[in-house]
Amino acid sequence: MKPVNSVLSSFGTTIFEVMSTLAREHGSLNLGQGFPDEDGPAHLKSVAGNAMSDNPNQYPPMPGVPELRQAVAAHNKRFYNLDVNWENQVLITSGATEALAASMLALIEPGDEVIVMEPVYDSYVPMIMRAGGIPKPVRLLPPEWELSEDVLRAAFSGKTKLLLLNTPHNPAGKVYTDQELGMIAALAVEHDCYVVCDEVYEHIVFDGHTHNPIMKYPGMAERTLRIGSAGKTFSMTGWKVGYVTAPPALYAALAKAHQFLTFTTPPMLQYAVAEGLHSDDDYFESLRLSMQQKRDRLSTGLAKARFGVLPSQGTYFLTTDIRPTGFTGTDVEFCQQITVGAGVTALPMSAFYLPGAVNGQAAPDNFVRFCFCKRDEMLDEASQKLIEYFT
Ligand code: PMP
Ligand code: GLN
Repeated sequence: MKPVNSVLSSFGTTIFEVMSTLAREHGSLNLGQGFPDEDGPAHLKSVAGNAMSDNPNQYPPMPGVPELRQAVAAHNKRFYNLDVNWENQVLITSGATEALAASMLALIEPGDEVIVMEPVYDSYVPMIMRAGGIPKPVRLLPPEWELSEDVLRAAFSGKTKLLLLNTPHNPAGKVYTDQELGMIAALAVEHDCYVVCDEVYEHIVFDGHTHNPIMKYPGMAERTLRIGSAGKTFSMTGWKVGYVTAPPALYAALAKAHQFLTFTTPPMLQYAVAEGLHSDDDYFESLRLSMQQKRDRLSTGLAKARFGVLPSQGTYFLTTDIRPTGFTGTDVEFCQQITVGAGVTALPMSAFYLPGAVNGQAAPDNFVRFCFCKRDEMLDEASQKLIEYFT
């Protein structure tokens, strides 16, 4: 038999699946893969259910149903004062994952360089490479996750086509500051490159930090693709409804990729997400607050279990240093050990770094990521198990 595609087959099974499978095998509490254990608003499920019963279950329009595209445009205006024409600037995709893949297929030519910030979300690098691009990592390290202008500038070259940004950042829990976004935007303009910004956690930001779409910065409106996800904003990660806001020229390129990838996204879910995006401000505020309380609850528990808990400014995730627990092995060994020994599963941060050193800096191997978007009882039980295990 001839070999299958060498790029994708060179990657292992994603860490999310590996650790969730291990958690299932050992019956451990899964704080690895990021998904809430309670569904989002019941009325949105009813909208989806009614739309499924009452409407045709056939292909909706390729770019998405008008109701949802209009709702995305209105959401952009309401939260960020972005003026967006839904007819040639908003595309609905099957999750942010498809939006990311479509963006890369639409923009990258073989040999183009693509800047990514490490730790890097798992689907970025495989898709960059499958599109023929060359990933250029910028390595951000705990505990500060500091982005230096010199290091970022050095990552650009004449071949840089695209910079892939994620804010609020999974797994670091970093919300890029206005100053950092301004710096990234200025470099993108200077080097005439596109920016794809993964903003799936845009409404999960804590402690008065503000999420700013990089699309708003000078010179960025014409070069940015801004990606959101209903999975995160409405706590329904299985729905896989994504939305991209783009300048018209990039929208056209993106729609070409989308039409050949999935062509469209289930209509009943699109109607429900449209309704969700029109929710009143209280909905978005209570999502943010409830996640912030969960972050605090788990942080307190993990600190009692002797973890070094790093601040999390947004997302579903906390980063912790495992050395204060007394464990001397790697983060991968640690995650296996606590799954089997303590009955709690987390993810090794090293899984979000490329192999080898970048700018002479090795990836850390003593940090693990915990997901806190779970019922309080589960967070307490997990904390208790870890406290008993480590103290
Ligand atoms: N980007 C980031 C940073 C994520 O954390 C996730 C999933 N949790 C995605 C993209 C994928 O989102 P979706 O489920 O909408 O495909
Ligand atoms: N985004 C989720 C996480 O970071 C997982 C999504 C997936 O399993 N692909 O945990």
